[in-house]
Amino acid sequence: MPRPERHDVLIVGAGVAGLSAALWLRDFGLDALLLEEATQPGGQLHEIHAPIPNYLLAFGWDGRRFAGQALNDARSAALRILVGEPVARVAARGRLVERSGGDRFSGRAILIATGLRRRGLGVPGEAALVGRGVSHSANRDRERYAGKPVLVVGGGTAAVEDALLCAESGSDVTLLHRSARFRARSDFLARARAHPKIRIVAGAVVTELVGVERLEAVRYRTRGASAVREVAVAAIFIRIGWEPRTEKLRGVVRLDRAGYVKAGVGGVTSAPGFYAAGDVCSPRWPSIANAAGQGAAAAWEIARSLGRLPR
Ligand SMILES: Cc1cc2nc3c(=O)[nH]c(=O)nc-3n(C[C@H](O)[C@H](O)[C@H](O)COP(=O)(O)OP(=O)(O)OC[C@H]3O[C@@H](n4cnc5c(N)ncnc54)[C@H](O)[C@@H]3O)c2cc1C
Repeated sequence: MPRPERHDVLIVGAGVAGLSAALWLRDFGLDALLLEEATQPGGQLHEIHAPIPNYLLAFGWDGRRFAGQALNDARSAALRILVGEPVARVAARGRLVERSGGDRFSGRAILIATGLRRRGLGVPGEAALVGRGVSHSANRDRERYAGKPVLVVGGGTAAVEDALLCAESGSDVTLLHRSARFRARSDFLARARAHPKIRIVAGAVVTELVGVERLEAVRYRTRGASAVREVAVAAIFIRIGWEPRTEKLRGVVRLDRAGYVKAGVGGVTSAPGFYAAGDVCSPRWPSIANAAGQGAAAAWEIARSLGRLPR
């Protein structure tokens, strides 16, 4: 087996956290390689379709513009980014990282910046119908289903907001939540309860998505009832939260119960030479500002540990 390609620092994930760290590492004269699964760097920025109301210097931009500028910055700084293949294995021994195609890399330090993904339902039919009726964003997709019946799953603000958006686009909306208690903003919930085009089904879980070419119906079971019900819909919007992308890190660094990397100041983790930054270790403040700041802080800490800065 060929020897792994060696670098000072490997960064897994080229979202805001990974890119911010890479800029600082370059500034400290370290050789950093970014490994990104998607075909474009930017991570969640690509999913922000509304104006960003809370980040300095990009106030009012949408995520696409922000991601475009980030890519320009990465090019101007000549950052090294390999895109289009996920990291499939991470090993603490030898600080090794392997991409799904088999390329192997080793780093004197490894920065985990893999962010979050939207949580799925994990039911039959879901994976096959993504993009063909299965969506995670009414903001982006509701016009495709305007006037058609849709179902929104979830009990938080995002779910209730999506139900309102779809209803305002003329759809008959079923808002389905597994509990009787909604965590959504009370003003949104009050509007949804009063909306003539929204029907709320509480205490129910989705069991299956039905359709061949496209989604045709959603099956669900109400708690305490054995019968499975079915509602015909053109789309389902799944808004049941986010989960950290840490499945490749189990047994490598310590994770909390929800799967987030446990990281201290400067992104230091439980494994020597492993650092984390951004949403993957920040369940309490997932944001662009935090990702950029934590990426920078981790880069400083790594530079210190590799002797580029005084301790
Ligand atoms: C709809 C929406 C609206 C938002 N609005 C705002 C807002 O107004 N203000 C704000 O501050 N924040 C907002 N955010 C949050 C903000 O976008 C994120 O907090 C921030 O972008 C997180 O950056 P990150 O680098 O930590 O993670 P991510 O952006 O999740 O990037 C992680 C990267 O790692 C890659 N990756 C994951 N696993 C692997 C692997 N195995 N191999 C290789 N690569 C991998 C992913 O493809 C991704 O590119 C919003 C997010 C969304 C989705």
